Amino acid sequence: MGAQPEELFMLSLEKLEQQNVYIPESDAEEVEADLVVIGGGPAGLTAGIYGARAGLNTVIIERDALGGQVASTPTVENFPGLTQIGGKALVDLMVTHALEYVNIFPGEEVMKIDPGEPIVVSTNRRHFKAKTVLLATGAAHRHLNVPGENSLSGHGVSYCTTCDGPLFKGKKVIMAGGGDSAVTEALHLKNIGVDVTIVHRKDKLRAQEHLIKNLEVSGIPVIYDTEIEQIKGRGKVEEVKLRNNRTNKKNTIKVEGVFIAIGYTPSVELAREIGVELTDDGYIKHDSRHRTNIKGIYSAGDVEGGYKQIVTAAGHGSEAALAIFEDLVNPYWKKEG
Ligand code: NDP
Repeated sequence: MGAQPEELFMLSLEKLEQQNVYIPESDAEEVEADLVVIGGGPAGLTAGIYGARAGLNTVIIERDALGGQVASTPTVENFPGLTQIGGKALVDLMVTHALEYVNIFPGEEVMKIDPGEPIVVSTNRRHFKAKTVLLATGAAHRHLNVPGENSLSGHGVSYCTTCDGPLFKGKKVIMAGGGDSAVTEALHLKNIGVDVTIVHRKDKLRAQEHLIKNLEVSGIPVIYDTEIEQIKGRGKVEEVKLRNNRTNKKNTIKVEGVFIAIGYTPSVELAREIGVELTDDGYIKHDSRHRTNIKGIYSAGDVEGGYKQIVTAAGHGSEAALAIFEDLVNPYWKKEG
């Protein structure tokens, strides 16, 4: 159930092939590995494939949905070789591929990392004894932090158009944000019949030019220079209070949904706890080989900042896994020591 992309499943069903792709449960209390990858998004899954293919005993731990942000991206149109594919379908392909090589521990949260030899990674289920750890923990949705946002989350406030968009078919909603995510997701909402208006705090969108063109073609209105001050409603979203930050004029509009796509906050709690150095923006500081300041701990993907693209995350995941392989064969810390 859900272990394979629908397209692949249908093809194999036509051929009456045996179905054997699944993520096996493990009841092991202790697992030894050369490389423990924390995070099962494109960076982590790619690192898993590369690590295992280089001969490292590699495992991947993921606390939420495999695929990270991609799993909730409506359509991906810039992954080379796949003109257009649903985010979830792409994730299923990646997971199926990774499972050929690595053990994946889904739904398992890392509670603690103890650096040393070995590095001990403790989850809510077991301990992993690792030679190296790759932090591919990604980045989480940023919040507006306005009254009503938390209390109405799941009751009209949403961060995921693929998950919740269909509930708003024929209804009026706003989309907060002015970047690629806000525009892509607004286009998706419009496509499925939602009456969407973008609300952006600046006078210009910062999305890619071709996305802005699509926006114009779709006739999605944009309210510029405007901030959301409050989301109101009894039990569900009914209206939003807006303020024009140039004129200071306030107004209230009736909507049934508020989608928020205003960027990400890197997931660096574990990194911070063990003393991994961060950049001024709060991302993991790393060198060109994805090493952090702590021996044996590496990073890859959105948690490092930079362009948050599936291909860049996957690329950095492969780089990190290859660097880890080389470091384990020829440890830089021994050369330095
Ligand atoms: P971005 O950081 O690019 O944009 C965030 C947007 O939200 C900005 O317009 C910002 O406004 C606005 N914003 C931030 N905080 C607030 C706030 N508190 N209140 C109101 N507005 C706020 O994030 P995205 O998620 O759009 O994109 C992240 C990365 O993912 C980018 O690298 C992007 O290119 C990539 N991406 C690519 C896609 C594609 O290629 N199809 C699809 C989706 C994402 P301001 O401009 O004023 O700072």
